Amino acid sequence: MGSWIVERDGDGAIAHLIEEFGKLPGIGPKTAERLTHHLLGAGRGQALALADALRGISERIRPCRQCFNLTEGDLCSICRDARRDPSLLCVVEQPRDLAALERAGSYRGLYHVLQGRLAPLDNVGPEQLTLDALVQRIQQGGVREVILATNPTLEGDGTALYISNLLAGTGVLITRLARGLPSGSVLEFANSQMLADALEGRRTF
Ligand SMILES: [Zn+2]
Repeated sequence: MGSWIVERDGDGAIAHLIEEFGKLPGIGPKTAERLTHHLLGAGRGQALALADALRGISERIRPCRQCFNLTEGDLCSICRDARRDPSLLCVVEQPRDLAALERAGSYRGLYHVLQGRLAPLDNVGPEQLTLDALVQRIQQGGVREVILATNPTLEGDGTALYISNLLAGTGVLITRLARGLPSGSVLEFANSQMLADALEGRRTF
């Protein structure tokens, strides 16, 4: 009976938070519960600070008008940076891949975030990605090289192939990250030196 009462209580705010934590990657039910009880014990201030931070990312962060990186402004800090080389465009699947390449620290060009990869089995087709905007950027001129930095997975490779066909005939050099990255790995988990090497050793697609 006691546990039944606890469970009924749990239908409310506490269970809701446990459920939401549980949807996050790497958070199992036990951790979700532990985080929730941590916040309950930590007092109102910490919970509200977390709520503010969450509200901040959901209300203020949006895709950059030019490259679809995440930003609080119209253009992201990379697109705004006059020291970056606008003739180089590195195409990545997600902002977290861009972040991994930025951590590697050697790339000085601009980016284009696809907001995903082609995944026919998940019904993700070309129209779901930012490919129209990519083609427009190339057509505006000034881009000398497009570096395809999609993940070295089946879908990432398929996406790279699709883009290289899409851009064939534009006269832009199309390259792919070197295969220093183990096949099937994802950029966001690769170490910085590996990513710097993969960029350095890129090859014509
Ligand atoms: Zn941008």
